[in-house]
This record gives sequence, C-alpha cells and structure tokens, in this order.
Amino acid sequence: MATLCERAFVIGLDGLRGPAVGEAETPVLDAFCAEAAWTDRASSVMPSSSYPAWGSMLHGVGPDKHQLGGETPIAEDAAWPSFVKVARQAHPEWTIGAFSCWGPINRDLIEESCNCVLRTGGDEILVPAAADFIRDQKPDLFFLHLDYIDGAGHSKGYHTPEYVAEIERTDGWIGQVLQAIRDIDAYDTSLIVIVSDHGGCKIEHENAIYNSHGEDNPDCMEIFWAARGPGLARGVHLDGQVNIADTAPVVARALGLAVPPGWDAAEAPEGVFV
Ligand SMILES: [Zn+2]
Repeated sequence: MATLCERAFVIGLDGLRGPAVGEAETPVLDAFCAEAAWTDRASSVMPSSSYPAWGSMLHGVGPDKHQLGGETPIAEDAAWPSFVKVARQAHPEWTIGAFSCWGPINRDLIEESCNCVLRTGGDEILVPAAADFIRDQKPDLFFLHLDYIDGAGHSKGYHTPEYVAEIERTDGWIGQVLQAIRDIDAYDTSLIVIVSDHGGCKIEHENAIYNSHGEDNPDCMEIFWAARGPGLARGVHLDGQVNIADTAPVVARALGLAVPPGWDAAEAPEGVFV
C-alpha cells in the first residue's frame, strides 16, 4: 500500500467541545486548520466519555464492540487492534511513543505489545517532554494526550471563561509540539491529527448539577477533528460527517498500513484525502 506520510503525530485534546474552538483565541489551531482537512463538529461516541471515545479513536470501532470502560485492558486478540498495534506489527523497528496525561490510555487502551515509549504526567510536564522526545528520538508514530481542557470543564464548566482560557493555554502548548516537528524537518512530510474525545455541559444527576459529559447532546458529542499531511486536503472544512472512530483508517492510509477487517470503517471519511 502506498505510503503518503513518513510519520504520524496524533495530538488528543480531552474534553474540547468542537465549537468552543471558535469561541477562543487559538492562533495555532487556526493556522493549522488553514492547511488541514478539519471540522469543529465531528462526532464522539456514546457514552461521550474518555474510555469509550479514546477507545474508538485508537481502535476504529464503536464502544458496542471495543467495550472499553476500565474493567479490563484491550485484549491482544481483539479483532480491532489499535492503529498503534497495526503500525507496530508492520514496522517492528519503528520508534513509537505515547505520552498521556490520562493514565488509562497507556494502561488499558494501547496494547502492551505495541512496545511504546510511554510517559504519563500533567500537561505542563508532557508538552516539553514530548517536544524533547520528538527532537531526540524522531518517532515514526507518536500520540500525545492533554487533559487540562477537560479539567477546566469539570471544575469550572464547559461554557465558561476559565474553560476558554484553558483552550487558549493549550493552543500555545500545541504550538510547542508542532515546532518540535518542524525542527526535525518533518512538518510537511508527516500526518498530524489533532482530535478531541468529547465536550461537556451541565448534567443533572441525583438532584445535583455537575459539569460533565457522557450524554447524547451536541455539547457532549461535537468534537474537534483536524488532519494535515501529504495527500490530504488542505484548508478544507469537512461537510460530511466525521466520527472519532474514523481517525484510525486515516492514520492507516497515511502510513500505508493495511486496515484490519475488524475496524468499522475501511476507508477514511470522504474529503479528507485528495
Ligand atoms: Zn475525555
């Protein structure tokens, strides 16, 4: 299968409501989108929570199949391997990293056999660590998960100035990671995906109101999704529906990896590739 992109970087932003990007000052994301195929209204999965959503992003299937919720890690013999595992099996020699603020991603969602360089920590620790890792190790595949936007949503609300401020701070951090990719001359030869897992809103539970997510409403379900790289559409706002589970076939196609028969979508969403 033809390889369009030499490397792939996936930056995951936990709890970012897609439309909230338009409410914040995000020069880095704006410049990225100007050269990407993107939408601020891609779909999460139900329930719109981190385990099911990041599970679907990595494994290319909905929660009905992957059943990821924290009870057990993903099975090595699942018919829906993560795109990380597909890459590892095709390229035993690759340097693959997964730096995740939310620990369960590295523990339960990415298979142990992927043999990734793993790291967990706060966003402000992971961002410089990721930039150093990119510059020093030049990874072939790298996943970075940042969590502070979701933290602001839970603590302050998903429609608050504090939430918007955290999006703006994270925008600067994304800029540091993209700069590291530029520093190894990989910015124009790599697939770079920036994706969130769910949004959030006010949710009533047992007579109390919480800032949370998990429900089937636009505030929880609409996520940000953008992909840039050789062979991809540039500066295109995707009209058609993009689901978070579509991320896996996009990574596979960009890296020339065969799509496992167990994934829900064998093809990338229409309009992502030219
Ligand atoms: Zn989440």
